[in-house]
Amino acid sequence: MTQFSDLGLAEPLLRALTAKGYTTPTPIQAEAIPPAMQGLDILGVAQTGTGKTAAFALPILHRLNATRKVIARRSCRALVLSPTRELASQIAESFRAYGKGLGVNAVVIYGGAKMSPQIRSLAPGVDVVVATPGRLLDHLSSGTISLRETEILVLDEADQMLDLGFFRPIRQIVSFMPKARQSLFFSATMPDEIGRLADELLSNPTKVSVAPAATTVERVDQKVIFVEAGRKRALLTEMLNEPDFGRVIVFTRTKHGADRVADHLEKAGVAAAAIHGDKRQGQRERALAEFKQGKIKALVATDIASRGIDVDAVSHVVNYEMPMTPEAYVHRIGRTARAGNGGSAISLCDDDERPLLRAIQKTTRQTLASEDKRLDPTQAPRAPKKPGKPAPRGRGPSKPAHATAPAAPRWDPMAAERPKVAQSQNGAAKAASGRPGGFKANAAPRRRFP
Ligand code: AMP
Repeated sequence: MTQFSDLGLAEPLLRALTAKGYTTPTPIQAEAIPPAMQGLDILGVAQTGTGKTAAFALPILHRLNATRKVIARRSCRALVLSPTRELASQIAESFRAYGKGLGVNAVVIYGGAKMSPQIRSLAPGVDVVVATPGRLLDHLSSGTISLRETEILVLDEADQMLDLGFFRPIRQIVSFMPKARQSLFFSATMPDEIGRLADELLSNPTKVSVAPAATTVERVDQKVIFVEAGRKRALLTEMLNEPDFGRVIVFTRTKHGADRVADHLEKAGVAAAAIHGDKRQGQRERALAEFKQGKIKALVATDIASRGIDVDAVSHVVNYEMPMTPEAYVHRIGRTARAGNGGSAISLCDDDERPLLRAIQKTTRQTLASEDKRLDPTQAPRAPKKPGKPAPRGRGPSKPAHATAPAAPRWDPMAAERPKVAQSQNGAAKAASGRPGGFKANAAPRRRFP
Protein backbone atom coordinates (compact mmCIF):
# COMPACT_ATOMS: atom_id res chain seq x y z
CA MET A 1 0.00 0.00 0.00
CA THR A 2 1.24 3.49 -0.84
CA GLN A 3 2.56 5.54 2.07
CA PHE A 4 2.81 9.32 2.12
CA SER A 5 6.57 8.90 2.12
CA ASP A 6 6.32 7.22 -1.33
CA LEU A 7 4.69 10.23 -2.95
CA GLY A 8 7.72 12.50 -3.08
CA LEU A 9 6.16 15.23 -0.97
CA ALA A 10 8.44 17.86 0.57
CA GLU A 11 9.91 16.84 3.92
CA PRO A 12 8.05 19.46 6.01
CA LEU A 13 4.75 18.17 4.61
CA LEU A 14 5.63 14.64 5.64
CA ARG A 15 6.49 15.89 9.11
CA ALA A 16 3.14 17.68 9.35
CA LEU A 17 1.36 14.50 8.30
CA THR A 18 3.25 12.47 10.88
CA ALA A 19 2.32 15.03 13.52
CA LYS A 20 -1.32 14.51 12.59
CA GLY A 21 -0.85 10.76 12.79
CA TYR A 22 -1.49 10.16 9.09
CA THR A 23 0.79 7.64 7.40
CA THR A 24 -1.35 6.10 4.69
CA PRO A 25 -3.05 8.19 2.03
CA THR A 26 -6.78 7.67 1.63
CA PRO A 27 -7.82 6.36 -1.83
CA ILE A 28 -8.59 9.82 -3.21
CA GLN A 29 -5.24 11.09 -1.92
CA ALA A 30 -3.32 8.16 -3.42
CA GLU A 31 -5.01 8.78 -6.78
CA ALA A 32 -4.99 12.56 -6.91
CA ILE A 33 -1.72 13.61 -5.30
CA PRO A 34 0.74 12.24 -7.90
CA PRO A 35 -0.90 13.82 -11.00
CA ALA A 36 -1.65 17.03 -9.09
CA MET A 37 2.01 17.28 -8.06
CA GLN A 38 2.89 17.13 -11.75
CA GLY A 39 0.68 20.12 -12.39
CA LEU A 40 -2.10 18.23 -14.17
CA ASP A 41 -5.76 19.19 -13.92
CA ILE A 42 -7.88 16.90 -11.77
CA LEU A 43 -11.53 16.00 -11.95
CA GLY A 44 -12.30 14.31 -8.65
CA VAL A 45 -15.52 12.62 -7.68
CA ALA A 46 -15.31 12.55 -3.93
CA GLN A 47 -17.17 13.74 -0.89
CA THR A 48 -16.12 15.24 2.38
CA GLY A 49 -15.01 12.52 4.71
CA THR A 50 -12.76 10.92 2.11
CA GLY A 51 -9.72 13.06 2.86
CA LYS A 52 -10.14 15.16 -0.26
CA THR A 53 -8.98 18.38 1.39
CA ALA A 54 -5.51 16.92 1.82
CA ALA A 55 -5.80 15.42 -1.68
CA PHE A 56 -5.61 18.94 -3.09
CA ALA A 57 -3.89 20.82 -0.24
CA LEU A 58 -0.78 18.63 -0.14
CA PRO A 59 0.13 18.80 -3.84
CA ILE A 60 -0.63 22.53 -3.93
CA LEU A 61 1.61 23.17 -0.93
CA HIS A 62 4.28 21.00 -2.47
CA ARG A 63 4.16 22.91 -5.76
CA LEU A 64 4.06 26.33 -4.14
CA ASN A 65 7.10 25.39 -2.08
CA ALA A 66 8.98 23.92 -5.03
CA THR A 67 8.41 27.03 -7.17
CA ARG A 68 8.75 29.84 -4.63
CA LYS A 69 8.50 33.35 -5.99
CA VAL A 70 7.74 36.89 -4.94
CA ILE A 71 3.99 37.39 -4.83
CA ALA A 72 2.63 40.65 -6.22
CA ARG A 73 0.57 42.81 -3.89
CA ARG A 74 -3.07 41.76 -3.55
CA SER A 75 -2.33 38.61 -5.55
CA CYS A 76 -2.54 34.99 -4.58
CA ARG A 77 -0.83 31.96 -6.06
CA ALA A 78 -3.62 29.47 -5.34
CA LEU A 79 -7.34 30.08 -5.02
CA VAL A 80 -9.72 27.59 -3.40
CA LEU A 81 -13.45 28.20 -3.82
CA SER A 82 -15.70 26.72 -1.18
CA PRO A 83 -19.51 26.87 -0.96
CA THR A 84 -19.72 27.73 2.74
CA ARG A 85 -17.88 29.74 5.33
CA GLU A 86 -17.39 26.77 7.64
CA LEU A 87 -15.84 24.68 4.92
CA ALA A 88 -13.69 27.61 3.81
CA SER A 89 -12.39 28.03 7.36
CA GLN A 90 -11.64 24.36 7.66
CA ILE A 91 -9.84 24.23 4.35
CA ALA A 92 -7.72 27.21 5.35
CA GLU A 93 -6.95 25.51 8.67
CA SER A 94 -5.85 22.39 6.81
CA PHE A 95 -3.54 24.45 4.57
CA ARG A 96 -2.04 26.07 7.65
CA ALA A 97 -1.63 22.78 9.49
CA TYR A 98 -0.05 20.91 6.57
CA GLY A 99 1.98 23.91 5.43
CA LYS A 100 3.29 24.79 8.88
CA GLY A 101 6.91 23.93 8.16
CA LEU A 102 6.89 25.63 4.75
CA GLY A 103 6.03 29.16 5.75
CA VAL A 104 3.13 29.17 3.32
CA ASN A 105 0.33 31.53 4.30
CA ALA A 106 -3.39 30.96 3.76
CA VAL A 107 -6.10 33.59 4.06
CA VAL A 108 -9.81 32.90 4.30
CA ILE A 109 -12.36 35.24 2.72
CA TYR A 110 -16.11 34.91 3.25
CA GLY A 111 -19.25 36.96 3.52
CA GLY A 112 -20.90 37.98 6.78
CA ALA A 113 -17.56 39.27 8.07
CA LYS A 114 -16.01 42.75 7.81
CA MET A 115 -14.22 43.61 4.56
CA SER A 116 -11.42 45.65 6.10
CA PRO A 117 -9.50 42.87 7.92
CA GLN A 118 -9.79 40.77 4.76
CA ILE A 119 -8.46 43.64 2.65
CA ARG A 120 -5.52 44.01 5.03
CA SER A 121 -4.67 40.32 4.95
CA LEU A 122 -4.84 40.20 1.15
CA ALA A 123 -2.79 43.38 0.64
CA PRO A 124 0.76 42.02 0.84
CA GLY A 125 -0.01 39.10 -1.51
CA VAL A 126 -0.60 35.58 -0.18
CA ASP A 127 0.12 32.02 -1.17
CA VAL A 128 -3.36 30.59 -0.74
CA VAL A 129 -6.76 32.28 -0.63
CA VAL A 130 -9.74 30.17 0.39
CA ALA A 131 -12.95 31.99 -0.45
CA THR A 132 -16.68 31.74 -0.84
CA PRO A 133 -17.70 33.03 -4.29
CA GLY A 134 -19.87 36.02 -3.36
CA ARG A 135 -17.35 37.73 -1.11
CA LEU A 136 -14.53 37.02 -3.51
CA LEU A 137 -16.47 38.82 -6.25
CA ASP A 138 -16.86 41.80 -3.89
CA HIS A 139 -13.08 41.91 -3.51
CA LEU A 140 -12.55 41.52 -7.23
CA SER A 141 -14.91 44.35 -8.07
CA SER A 142 -13.34 46.64 -5.49
CA GLY A 143 -9.86 45.74 -6.73
CA THR A 144 -8.71 44.44 -3.34
CA ILE A 145 -7.66 41.14 -4.86
CA SER A 146 -6.20 40.29 -8.23
CA LEU A 147 -6.27 36.85 -9.77
CA ARG A 148 -4.17 37.77 -12.80
CA GLU A 149 -1.19 35.82 -11.50
CA THR A 150 -3.03 32.98 -9.82
CA GLU A 151 -1.54 29.67 -10.85
CA ILE A 152 -3.88 27.14 -9.26
CA LEU A 153 -7.65 27.02 -8.91
CA VAL A 154 -9.54 24.55 -6.73
CA LEU A 155 -13.28 24.24 -6.92
CA ASP A 156 -14.52 22.24 -3.98
CA GLU A 157 -17.98 20.71 -3.52
CA ALA A 158 -19.16 21.69 -6.98
CA ASP A 159 -22.54 20.07 -6.45
CA GLN A 160 -23.15 22.20 -3.40
CA MET A 161 -22.05 25.25 -5.39
CA LEU A 162 -24.73 24.38 -7.92
CA ASP A 163 -27.38 24.03 -5.21
CA LEU A 164 -26.46 27.44 -3.87
CA GLY A 165 -26.63 29.09 -7.28
CA PHE A 166 -22.90 29.80 -7.42
CA PHE A 167 -22.16 28.71 -10.99
CA ARG A 168 -22.55 32.20 -12.43
CA PRO A 169 -20.29 33.80 -9.82
CA ILE A 170 -17.76 31.01 -10.41
CA ARG A 171 -17.72 31.68 -14.15
CA GLN A 172 -17.23 35.37 -13.43
CA ILE A 173 -14.38 34.67 -11.02
CA VAL A 174 -12.65 32.37 -13.48
CA SER A 175 -12.84 35.08 -16.15
CA PHE A 176 -10.41 37.07 -13.99
CA MET A 177 -7.88 34.23 -13.97
CA PRO A 178 -5.20 33.27 -16.48
CA LYS A 179 -6.14 30.50 -18.90
CA ALA A 180 -2.81 28.81 -18.26
CA ARG A 181 -3.37 27.52 -14.78
CA GLN A 182 -3.80 24.24 -12.95
CA SER A 183 -7.41 23.49 -12.02
CA LEU A 184 -8.60 20.92 -9.52
CA PHE A 185 -12.32 20.24 -9.47
CA PHE A 186 -14.13 18.17 -6.85
CA SER A 187 -17.73 17.14 -6.60
CA ALA A 188 -19.56 14.36 -4.79
CA THR A 189 -21.77 13.82 -7.80
CA MET A 190 -21.37 14.55 -11.48
CA PRO A 191 -24.70 15.37 -13.12
CA ASP A 192 -24.65 17.01 -16.57
CA GLU A 193 -24.59 20.59 -15.38
CA ILE A 194 -21.55 19.96 -13.22
CA GLY A 195 -19.89 18.00 -16.01
CA ARG A 196 -20.34 21.02 -18.30
CA LEU A 197 -18.70 23.37 -15.82
CA ALA A 198 -15.85 20.89 -15.38
CA ASP A 199 -15.39 20.82 -19.18
CA GLU A 200 -15.17 24.59 -19.24
CA LEU A 201 -12.69 24.88 -16.39
CA LEU A 202 -10.43 21.89 -16.90
CA SER A 203 -8.02 20.98 -19.58
CA ASN A 204 -7.45 17.32 -20.25
CA PRO A 205 -8.01 16.40 -16.61
CA THR A 206 -6.92 13.26 -14.82
CA LYS A 207 -10.11 11.71 -13.53
CA VAL A 208 -10.01 10.35 -10.02
CA SER A 209 -12.94 8.93 -8.21
CA VAL A 210 -13.65 6.98 -5.11
CA ALA A 211 -16.94 5.58 -3.97
CA PRO A 212 -16.91 7.67 -0.84
CA ALA A 213 -20.55 7.78 -0.18
CA ALA A 214 -20.66 4.03 -0.09
CA THR A 215 -17.59 3.84 2.09
CA THR A 216 -19.08 6.29 4.50
CA VAL A 217 -22.50 4.74 4.31
CA GLU A 218 -21.08 1.32 5.07
CA ARG A 219 -19.47 2.48 8.26
CA VAL A 220 -22.61 4.14 9.55
CA ASP A 221 -25.11 2.06 11.42
CA GLN A 222 -28.34 3.36 9.89
CA LYS A 223 -31.88 3.07 11.03
CA VAL A 224 -35.21 4.71 10.33
CA ILE A 225 -37.91 5.16 12.95
CA PHE A 226 -41.46 5.68 11.77
CA VAL A 227 -43.13 8.16 14.04
CA GLU A 228 -45.86 10.78 13.83
CA ALA A 229 -44.57 14.30 13.10
CA GLY A 230 -46.08 15.55 16.34
CA ARG A 231 -44.20 13.01 18.46
CA LYS A 232 -40.75 13.60 17.04
CA ARG A 233 -39.79 16.16 19.66
CA ALA A 234 -40.52 13.87 22.59
CA LEU A 235 -38.73 11.00 20.91
CA LEU A 236 -35.69 13.15 20.19
CA THR A 237 -35.47 14.28 23.80
CA GLU A 238 -35.63 10.71 25.02
CA MET A 239 -32.92 9.68 22.61
CA LEU A 240 -30.65 12.50 23.65
CA ASN A 241 -30.98 11.53 27.28
CA GLU A 242 -29.52 8.12 26.49
CA PRO A 243 -25.90 7.89 27.66
CA ASP A 244 -24.54 6.59 24.35
CA PHE A 245 -25.83 9.67 22.52
CA GLY A 246 -22.63 11.51 23.33
CA ARG A 247 -22.22 14.06 20.55
CA VAL A 248 -25.14 14.41 18.20
CA ILE A 249 -25.91 16.41 15.08
CA VAL A 250 -29.63 16.84 14.56
CA PHE A 251 -30.76 17.85 11.09
CA THR A 252 -33.85 19.86 10.34
CA ARG A 253 -35.09 21.04 6.99
CA THR A 254 -35.53 24.71 7.84
CA LYS A 255 -33.68 27.35 9.81
CA HIS A 256 -36.75 28.07 11.84
CA GLY A 257 -37.14 24.36 12.56
CA ALA A 258 -33.53 24.20 13.74
CA ASP A 259 -34.16 27.04 16.20
CA ARG A 260 -37.32 25.43 17.49
CA VAL A 261 -35.71 22.04 18.01
CA ALA A 262 -32.68 23.57 19.75
CA ASP A 263 -34.98 25.58 22.04
CA HIS A 264 -37.00 22.52 22.84
CA LEU A 265 -33.90 20.52 23.71
CA GLU A 266 -32.53 23.30 25.88
CA LYS A 267 -35.83 23.47 27.77
CA ALA A 268 -35.70 19.72 28.22
CA GLY A 269 -32.25 20.03 29.80
CA VAL A 270 -30.16 18.95 26.81
CA ALA A 271 -27.37 21.42 26.00
CA ALA A 272 -28.00 22.32 22.35
CA ALA A 273 -27.37 25.06 19.80
CA ALA A 274 -28.68 25.73 16.32
CA ILE A 275 -26.40 26.43 13.39
CA HIS A 276 -27.79 27.80 10.13
CA GLY A 277 -27.43 30.53 7.57
CA ASP A 278 -29.35 33.17 9.53
CA LYS A 279 -26.96 32.96 12.46
CA ARG A 280 -24.15 35.46 12.58
CA GLN A 281 -20.72 34.08 11.80
CA GLY A 282 -19.66 34.56 15.43
CA GLN A 283 -22.65 32.59 16.67
CA ARG A 284 -21.95 29.80 14.19
CA GLU A 285 -18.33 29.60 15.19
CA ARG A 286 -19.16 29.64 18.90
CA ALA A 287 -21.75 26.88 18.51
CA LEU A 288 -19.30 24.75 16.56
CA ALA A 289 -16.49 25.38 19.07
CA GLU A 290 -18.71 24.48 22.03
CA PHE A 291 -19.86 21.37 20.25
CA LYS A 292 -16.26 20.35 19.56
CA GLN A 293 -15.34 21.00 23.20
CA GLY A 294 -18.28 18.91 24.39
CA LYS A 295 -19.96 21.86 26.11
CA ILE A 296 -23.08 21.23 24.09
CA LYS A 297 -24.35 17.79 23.28
CA ALA A 298 -26.53 18.50 20.27
CA LEU A 299 -25.86 20.72 17.31
CA VAL A 300 -29.07 21.33 15.40
CA ALA A 301 -28.23 22.12 11.79
CA THR A 302 -29.74 22.72 8.40
CA ASP A 303 -28.22 20.99 5.40
CA ILE A 304 -26.46 24.04 4.10
CA ALA A 305 -24.86 24.90 7.42
CA SER A 306 -23.68 21.35 7.85
CA ARG A 307 -21.34 21.52 4.88
CA GLY A 308 -17.86 21.36 6.22
CA ILE A 309 -18.77 20.40 9.77
CA ASP A 310 -15.85 18.12 10.46
CA VAL A 311 -16.05 17.20 14.10
CA ASP A 312 -14.49 14.02 15.35
CA ALA A 313 -16.39 11.48 17.35
CA VAL A 314 -19.93 12.50 16.44
CA SER A 315 -21.72 9.50 17.94
CA HIS A 316 -25.05 10.02 16.19
CA VAL A 317 -26.65 11.90 13.37
CA VAL A 318 -30.39 12.29 13.81
CA ASN A 319 -32.48 13.26 10.83
CA TYR A 320 -35.26 14.99 12.68
CA GLU A 321 -36.78 15.62 9.30
CA MET A 322 -35.96 13.54 6.28
CA PRO A 323 -33.67 15.28 3.81
CA MET A 324 -35.11 16.41 0.50
CA THR A 325 -32.59 14.51 -1.63
CA PRO A 326 -30.67 11.25 -1.32
CA GLU A 327 -27.41 13.22 -1.71
CA ALA A 328 -28.29 15.30 1.32
CA TYR A 329 -28.93 12.08 3.23
CA VAL A 330 -25.53 10.68 2.35
CA HIS A 331 -23.95 13.98 3.22
CA ARG A 332 -25.75 14.22 6.54
CA ILE A 333 -24.89 10.74 7.73
CA GLY A 334 -21.31 11.34 6.64
CA ARG A 335 -21.00 13.79 9.57
CA THR A 336 -20.57 10.73 11.74
CA ALA A 337 -18.15 7.87 11.02
CA ARG A 338 -15.42 10.41 10.25
CA ALA A 339 -11.78 9.48 9.84
CA GLY A 340 -12.42 5.75 9.98
CA ASN A 341 -14.62 5.78 13.11
CA GLY A 342 -18.05 4.18 13.30
CA GLY A 343 -21.24 6.05 14.00
CA SER A 344 -25.02 5.83 13.97
CA ALA A 345 -27.60 7.64 11.90
CA ILE A 346 -31.24 7.61 12.93
CA SER A 347 -33.91 9.06 10.68
CA LEU A 348 -37.27 10.04 12.09
CA CYS A 349 -39.75 9.56 9.29
CA ASP A 350 -43.40 10.55 9.43
CA ASP A 351 -45.96 9.31 6.95
CA ASP A 352 -45.65 12.32 4.69
CA GLU A 353 -41.92 11.77 4.42
CA ARG A 354 -42.09 8.19 3.17
CA PRO A 355 -41.54 9.19 -0.48
CA LEU A 356 -38.28 10.86 0.59
CA LEU A 357 -37.23 7.67 2.37
CA ARG A 358 -38.06 5.64 -0.72
CA ALA A 359 -35.90 7.90 -2.87
CA ILE A 360 -33.01 7.53 -0.42
CA GLN A 361 -33.32 3.76 -0.36
CA LYS A 362 -33.53 3.60 -4.13
CA THR A 363 -30.55 5.83 -4.76
CA THR A 364 -28.32 4.37 -2.08
CA ARG A 365 -29.56 0.90 -2.99
CA GLN A 366 -30.16 -0.16 0.53
CA THR A 367 -33.10 -0.92 2.72
CA LEU A 368 -32.70 0.78 6.04
CA ALA A 369 -33.31 -1.14 9.22
CA SER A 370 -36.55 0.23 10.53
CA GLU A 371 -38.70 0.41 13.58
CA ASP A 372 -42.29 1.52 13.77
CA LYS A 373 -42.99 3.72 16.76
CA ARG A 374 -46.22 5.18 15.52
CA LEU A 375 -48.97 4.96 18.07
CA ASP A 376 -50.73 2.58 15.75
CA PRO A 377 -48.02 0.79 13.82
CA THR A 378 -50.50 -1.45 12.09
CA GLN A 379 -51.90 1.51 10.27
CA ALA A 380 -50.69 1.91 6.73
CA PRO A 381 -49.03 5.23 6.09
CA ARG A 382 -51.56 7.91 5.29
CA ALA A 383 -54.46 5.47 5.18
CA PRO A 384 -56.67 6.58 8.03
CA LYS A 385 -58.40 3.84 9.92
CA LYS A 386 -62.15 3.65 9.36
CA PRO A 387 -64.00 4.14 12.64
CA GLY A 388 -65.10 0.85 14.13
CA LYS A 389 -63.08 -1.09 11.61
CA PRO A 390 -59.59 -1.61 12.90
CA ALA A 391 -56.92 -2.43 10.40
CA PRO A 392 -55.79 -6.05 10.60
CA ARG A 393 -52.73 -6.42 12.81
CA GLY A 394 -49.44 -7.26 11.24
CA ARG A 395 -50.43 -6.81 7.62
CA GLY A 396 -51.68 -3.41 6.69
CA PRO A 397 -53.00 -2.80 3.22
CA SER A 398 -49.60 -1.64 2.10
CA LYS A 399 -47.03 -3.52 4.06
CA PRO A 400 -43.86 -1.45 4.33
CA ALA A 401 -41.18 -2.45 1.89
CA HIS A 402 -38.69 -2.73 4.73
CA ALA A 403 -40.54 -5.58 6.43
CA THR A 404 -38.18 -8.50 6.21
CA ALA A 405 -35.76 -10.06 8.69
CA PRO A 406 -35.50 -8.63 12.20
CA ALA A 407 -32.40 -6.68 13.13
CA ALA A 408 -31.15 -5.98 16.63
CA PRO A 409 -31.64 -2.27 17.27
CA ARG A 410 -28.76 -0.54 18.99
CA TRP A 411 -31.02 1.81 20.80
CA ASP A 412 -34.62 1.43 21.72
CA PRO A 413 -35.97 3.67 24.47
CA MET A 414 -39.54 2.84 23.66
CA ALA A 415 -39.15 -0.87 23.22
CA ALA A 416 -41.34 -1.74 26.15
CA GLU A 417 -43.99 0.70 25.12
CA ARG A 418 -44.33 -0.18 21.50
CA PRO A 419 -44.75 -3.48 19.68
CA LYS A 420 -42.10 -4.06 17.07
CA VAL A 421 -43.48 -4.39 13.64
CA ALA A 422 -41.00 -4.38 10.89
CA GLN A 423 -37.29 -4.31 10.73
CA SER A 424 -34.85 -5.23 8.09
CA GLN A 425 -31.17 -5.77 7.84
CA ASN A 426 -29.14 -2.90 6.65
CA GLY A 427 -27.59 -5.23 4.18
CA ALA A 428 -27.28 -3.61 0.84
CA ALA A 429 -25.16 -0.63 1.74
CA LYS A 430 -22.36 -2.00 -0.36
CA ALA A 431 -24.44 -1.47 -3.43
CA ALA A 432 -22.79 1.79 -4.30
CA SER A 433 -19.26 0.46 -3.88
CA GLY A 434 -17.38 0.36 -7.10
CA ARG A 435 -19.84 2.79 -8.51
CA PRO A 436 -17.75 5.90 -8.36
CA GLY A 437 -19.79 8.94 -7.57
CA GLY A 438 -22.61 6.51 -7.17
CA PHE A 439 -25.12 8.91 -5.76
CA LYS A 440 -26.07 10.63 -8.94
CA ALA A 441 -27.68 13.95 -8.39
CA ASN A 442 -30.04 13.31 -11.25
CA ALA A 443 -31.41 10.24 -9.55
CA ALA A 444 -33.84 12.49 -7.73
CA PRO A 445 -35.01 15.99 -8.45
CA ARG A 446 -32.71 18.61 -7.02
CA ARG A 447 -34.50 20.95 -4.73
CA ARG A 448 -33.33 23.96 -2.85
CA PHE A 449 -33.36 23.82 0.89
CA PRO A 450 -35.56 26.49 2.28
P1 AMP B 1 -12.02 15.59 4.34
O1 AMP B 1 -12.64 14.64 3.39
O2 AMP B 1 -10.93 16.37 3.73
O3 AMP B 1 -13.06 16.45 5.01
O4 AMP B 1 -11.30 14.73 5.50
C1 AMP B 1 -12.02 13.90 6.37
C2 AMP B 1 -11.27 13.62 7.66
O5 AMP B 1 -10.22 12.66 7.45
C3 AMP B 1 -10.60 14.85 8.27
O6 AMP B 1 -10.85 14.84 9.66
C4 AMP B 1 -9.14 14.66 7.96
O7 AMP B 1 -8.34 15.31 8.92
C5 AMP B 1 -9.01 13.15 8.00
N1 AMP B 1 -7.92 12.63 7.13
C6 AMP B 1 -7.53 13.15 5.95
N2 AMP B 1 -6.54 12.41 5.40
C7 AMP B 1 -6.31 11.38 6.24
C8 AMP B 1 -5.40 10.26 6.22
N3 AMP B 1 -4.57 10.05 5.20
N4 AMP B 1 -5.44 9.42 7.26
C9 AMP B 1 -6.33 9.60 8.28
N5 AMP B 1 -7.19 10.64 8.35
C10 AMP B 1 -7.21 11.52 7.35
